Amino acid sequence: MGARPLDVPDSFGGYRQRLVEELQDKGIRDLAVLKAVSVVPRHRFVAEAVRHRAYEDSALPIAAGQTISQPWVQARSLQELRLSGGEKVLEVGVGSGYQTALLSQLAYAVVGIERVPALADSARSVIRELGIRNVTIVMGDGTLGWRSLAPFDAIVVAAASPEVPAPLLQQLAPGGRMVIPIGDRDEQVLTRVERVGDQVRVTPLSGVRFVPLLGEFGFAG
Ligand code: SAH
Repeated sequence: MGARPLDVPDSFGGYRQRLVEELQDKGIRDLAVLKAVSVVPRHRFVAEAVRHRAYEDSALPIAAGQTISQPWVQARSLQELRLSGGEKVLEVGVGSGYQTALLSQLAYAVVGIERVPALADSARSVIRELGIRNVTIVMGDGTLGWRSLAPFDAIVVAAASPEVPAPLLQQLAPGGRMVIPIGDRDEQVLTRVERVGDQVRVTPLSGVRFVPLLGEFGFAG
């Protein structure tokens, strides 16, 4: 377990480097996050038909009517988690698995939850092919968190929620950080939620658009 550099030779390194520079220009400063973007092959997580666009800073369609989020939004979310490498992190909404793979480079252990079985399966196999070993992908309603592996030092939610799901707040460790898009189905505010002692500190970060978080503590399916 534990983060380790990916060593997957491919011909996309130059494109990844350009994406890293674009993210830097757009304000991403966390060097570990930039390093993760420079080593994780995003083209492996998108459909063949849009592979040529894998290193654009844009959201792209994946299976089951879902999307892989814009790299800037993912990098911003990860930067706000302020990871130093020793954390156990929960990701809700694995989708393609790309952000899960970025997290594998930034934390000690990653638990990802996805509600669509086909997406969970395909994310799991790409992550296995890349030789990443500190990630566990499970299927279920991520609004409930994953109690048997809680508490988590950080939680990132990659789908829009009307409010912070109570179970996720309960499963956030003292001092832990959560980043989650809060709003309605059309527009949300990326929000940082921190547990500081007995208090919960909520900081709005930036306007965003995510697909809905569907589940008991999210939107109704
Ligand atoms: N981070 C992903 C993009 C996620 S899109 C990537 O890098 O590709 C949002 C994902 O959240 C979708 O795959 C959707 O199926 C999933 N999702 C929605 N509601 C969920 C829930 N309650 N539990 C787990 N996953 C959920």
